Amino acid sequence: MKDEFVPNEIFCCSGFQHSVEAAGQRGLAVLAHKTSSGIMFLFQSRGIAFEDVKKVGPNPSATDIKINVSFETGLQYCPWCGRRLQELIEISPEAFVELAEKHKKFYTGP
Ligand SMILES: [Zn+2]
Repeated sequence: MKDEFVPNEIFCCSGFQHSVEAAGQRGLAVLAHKTSSGIMFLFQSRGIAFEDVKKVGPNPSATDIKINVSFETGLQYCPWCGRRLQELIEISPEAFVELAEKHKKFYTGP
C-alpha cells in the first residue's frame, strides 16, 4: 500500500473520494469545477497525466491523427452510491470552492 486511506466526511463514499483524489492522474477522476452559477462536479478521463502533458510533442509522421488528452462530462449523482452531489456542496460549500480552485489547472473544457 502506498498511502493509507483516510475518509473525509465532505464526501458521500470512499469511491467518490478516491476519484476526487485521482484528479490530474491518467484514467478516470472527478473534478470540482467553479462556474458562474456555482460549483459542479465533472467526470474526467485523461489519456495523459497532467504532469506528463508537457512531455508530449507532435509526431511529424502522424500529422492527421487527433487525440483527446482529456475529456469531461458533468456529474449530478455519485456513480458509486447514487447521492445527489449538489447536496454535498450545500453541506460544505467552502471545502468545494477550495477544491475547485485546486482542480482548476486540470480542467481543459471551454
Ligand atoms: Zn458516493
